[in-house]
Parts: sequence; C-alpha cells; structure tokens
Amino acid sequence: MKAIVDRDTCTGCGLCPETCPEVFELDDEGLAIVKADPVPADAEDSAREAADVCPVEAITIQD
Ligand code: SF4
Repeated sequence: MKAIVDRDTCTGCGLCPETCPEVFELDDEGLAIVKADPVPADAEDSAREAADVCPVEAITIQD
C-alpha cells in the first residue's frame, strides 16, 4: 500500500501526522510528506484513517 500527499492541496493542518505518525510528518515548509513508502502493514489502518480525516482530501491511498 502506498500513500500520496498532494502538497498543492495540503494546508499543513497536522491531522495526518497526529493520526498516523508512522507514515506522515510535516516538513520544514509545514506541509505533509510521506516518510514510509510502502506503508508498513501495521500502519495501514491508521494511514487510511489519516486520509479520511484530512479536511481537504489531500491524501490518496493506493492499494
Ligand atoms: S491532514 Fe491533509 S491538510 Fe492536514 S497536514 Fe495532512 S495532508 Fe495536509
């Protein structure tokens, strides 16, 4: 499974690293990046949850 962040859409709200810190973090620009590719098996559920909670739908999950 792969997670992708559209940084043109991301507002840097911080919800995804809060929800799934194994996969997402905010970089020096204050926008989300994916730090685990592929998504570790034990973080798949929380990565999907992060995509669900993103207020601007900037996270895409590819199975
Ligand atoms: S939840 Fe969405 S808007 Fe917020 S930091 Fe993550 S990708 Fe960006």
